[in-house]
Amino acid sequence: MSVLDRFLRYARMDSRADDSSEACPTTPGQLELQRLLEAELHEIGLLDVTLDDNGYLMATIPASPGAPERPVVGFIAHVDTSPEMSGTNVKPIVHPEWDGRDIVLPDDPTAILRASDHPDLAAQIGHDIVTASGTTLLGADDKAGVAAIVEAAAHLMSHPEVRRGRIRICFTPDEEIGRGANRFDVSRFGADYAYTLDGGNAGELEFESFSADVMRVTFVGFNTHPGYAKGKMVNAIRAASRFVDRLPRERLSPETTDRYEGFVHPYQMEASVDRTSVRVLLRDHVTTKLREQERLVRTLAEAVAGETGTRAEIDVREQYRNMREVLDRHPHVVDRARRAIRAVGLTPTEKPIRGGTDGSRLSFMGLPTPNLFAGEHNFHSRLEWTSRQDLERAVAVIVEIARLP
Ligand SMILES: [Zn+2]
Repeated sequence: MSVLDRFLRYARMDSRADDSSEACPTTPGQLELQRLLEAELHEIGLLDVTLDDNGYLMATIPASPGAPERPVVGFIAHVDTSPEMSGTNVKPIVHPEWDGRDIVLPDDPTAILRASDHPDLAAQIGHDIVTASGTTLLGADDKAGVAAIVEAAAHLMSHPEVRRGRIRICFTPDEEIGRGANRFDVSRFGADYAYTLDGGNAGELEFESFSADVMRVTFVGFNTHPGYAKGKMVNAIRAASRFVDRLPRERLSPETTDRYEGFVHPYQMEASVDRTSVRVLLRDHVTTKLREQERLVRTLAEAVAGETGTRAEIDVREQYRNMREVLDRHPHVVDRARRAIRAVGLTPTEKPIRGGTDGSRLSFMGLPTPNLFAGEHNFHSRLEWTSRQDLERAVAVIVEIARLP
């Protein structure tokens, strides 16, 4: 079986995550995919293949016979797909030796991939492009990563002459809804460090993420019958609107920032006259800047509460931290990935992530984990695509990381 065959098989399975569920994994489709993978890993001959009660699948590629003691390296990918787009009845389509013409997806002729809109695609003329059919996502995020790891494992098992240390692999559930690291048992995994395969263009290597907190600002007003409210009603919706209106817009907002610029982002509101809550994301690559953002939000909220006769209740919750804080203390981890990428003839592309990965959490849980490309493009979209060549390059990088002394 080829890495492309594996990918197509996984892509057809519906493993969409569901934010509204408290179960782990949140959907039965994820478990079904994990069971299929469990069987494949057994078939390949991996050791210690275990699917735990929370739907985490782990396995071991043993060290090659007589290999000297080396660190245990892990490879991780997630089996769920984004809840933002349908993952039911995904029909992956291979466009062999794509000639650069528009790719019209058959189930929705308005879904068109054009080289002129997608420079990454334009760079892959002649490659075997894989898309969905127009009504669903493809799920290359992150089934491309899963397929690359399984194929690399198969390759290593059938090439015992490739000298390598012990390798651990793990497939996690519910990454897309931010829970992928929640029940990840780092000590059972037992790797010294790891790589998530969950990125875009061939050569990409990510080791800086945002640091992230979420604030909830609740304005408490006073509700009464609107016909007899004169001098009594205090409308929390008005207070919250004024507060949102005063949050920075020309700077410090997702709409106006990129690269290393952080932002304060109101993204959800629950409104009634009595109580209105606004959820605000705080994001910056420098963790200490989150405190400044928090102060700004507090100051604005308290000022508005004073002006409107409401009361402001504020709470702050930590989400994740910039993995670079951990990875800077283990420079060999990122360096090993860099060397592997170069060894297969690619150029490492290193840019900060404007978000988090499971690796951001895992790094702080004691498992330093940068992120590598897997050939995912247009994530969470019906125009999502990957290519056979991208998948094969991801396999090559994994094998090279395993092999490097
Ligand atoms: Zn992903």
